Amino acid sequence: MTQATYVRTDTIPLAQLTPFPGNAKRGDVGAILSSLARNGQYRALVVREVEPDRYVVLAGNHTTQALAAHGPGDCGMTVKAGDEERPCGVCGNQPWEPAARCEVVHCDDDTATRINLVDNRASDLGTYDEQALADLIGGLDDLGGTGWTDGECWPTCQDMAEPEGAPGTWTVTYRWGLPLDEAAIAAVSELTCQLILACLPPGTKGCGECRLPGNVTRVVRRGVEIEMADPTLIFGEGRTGLPLVDLWLSTVNPHRLASPSRVFSPDLKRPRVTTWP
Ligand SMILES: [Zn+2]
Repeated sequence: MTQATYVRTDTIPLAQLTPFPGNAKRGDVGAILSSLARNGQYRALVVREVEPDRYVVLAGNHTTQALAAHGPGDCGMTVKAGDEERPCGVCGNQPWEPAARCEVVHCDDDTATRINLVDNRASDLGTYDEQALADLIGGLDDLGGTGWTDGECWPTCQDMAEPEGAPGTWTVTYRWGLPLDEAAIAAVSELTCQLILACLPPGTKGCGECRLPGNVTRVVRRGVEIEMADPTLIFGEGRTGLPLVDLWLSTVNPHRLASPSRVFSPDLKRPRVTTWP
């Protein structure tokens, strides 16, 4: 048996569910409980039947914790949906015995570990289309049960005494430009080295060693005349005179554009603009 076999879908008392031993994910139980109260348990847990009436939770360990945190009986919580007051999605404000809807599977230990790992990991690996996300959230009256908050006290609640990433702080990571490939790094390295050499005083492995074209076009020495390309022309063409750098430049910018291309279209959606306060 190398794959999980679906057995049945069942509502199983929490007392019969065991958390996956050594589960490495630390989920946000509070956010899951808010979602359960607002939306109900819309997705079944995936549990492995290990013996009759004993199951190990492969996927949904934090949902199990959230249901346990809700506890038995009527929690007395209601959720606001617009102007409407709705009963809790877990207990329905009725007497309730802690239980979860589960998909029961049979599998071996190895597959059980893989299911637990990938279920935790797969959502980490995804990213967001920020515009689509903003559009979806923008279409809701409130953010209850979405896992998103409205920023609350931001930006006045920044705790400047705490290091970034600590509770009570928010951080903006600003990344400029694109990651460079190895050819680009080699080209930039050569250019940097030559610029440093050019800056060193003469006779200290500077100046004479520098391969950047100087302001010289003709040298006559011992009857030998050397004609060199006009350096101002080289720079004027967007080149440096350094082979590695010029090769790279001609690869990424074969038409020697002086600035990035831009597209103007009357059909393009205007960017979303937020003004604060
Ligand atoms: Zn409840």
